[in-house]
Amino acid sequence: MQTVPDWVFEFHGHRCPFMPIGWRMGLAAMSRLGMEREKDHGAFVFSEMGDGHPQTCMMDGLQASTGCTYGKNLLTRLYYGKVAAVVYHPQKGALRVALRSEVADEMGKYEFFSYRRRGIEPSEIPQAVSDEVINYILGLTDDELFTFQELPGFTYHPTPSSFNKVKCSVCGEYVFERYVVSKDGKPVCIPCSGYEKTLAKKPIL
Ligand SMILES: [Zn+2]
Ligand SMILES: [Zn+2]
Repeated sequence: MQTVPDWVFEFHGHRCPFMPIGWRMGLAAMSRLGMEREKDHGAFVFSEMGDGHPQTCMMDGLQASTGCTYGKNLLTRLYYGKVAAVVYHPQKGALRVALRSEVADEMGKYEFFSYRRRGIEPSEIPQAVSDEVINYILGLTDDELFTFQELPGFTYHPTPSSFNKVKCSVCGEYVFERYVVSKDGKPVCIPCSGYEKTLAKKPIL
């Protein structure tokens, strides 16, 4: 039986089976690639998840086990709507890990999902009910849980990092160089440029 440390459940906020699936997906990929949990910026995770499906909890587990976090810009979402991810280390290679459909089918039989189908949030579900499906996941072997596929030709070139910044000539706030736009010949930030698709002014998500 595998375990998930308490801090990961605390970070995630509730007890559900998809976070542990992501935790194990990351560990399984790391051991097969022979890589350590990423401290800095040397490995990348490409989640095949999209929006609008509850399985996205998987990505919190993946981030926790691999260290490839959203904040370090090491997690990219591919929007395929699949419970799968590619873990990539430039020196070790790339491995795609996908949840087996049989496991997804079996999970659906647990009481946890009858609560979820009634619109009950995971934190409102009795822990004994949540733990039943979590323990099912944690009791499977890596090969029972996932399929693995090596991706020999996989490469990825992240956006180079730069500390260069410029002060917006309108609001006076700093803008990282890549995002500075020019308005009437002066450097401005995107919101001050009048650009309509700015999240801060007009959410597009
Ligand atoms: Zn969750
Ligand atoms: Zn500005």
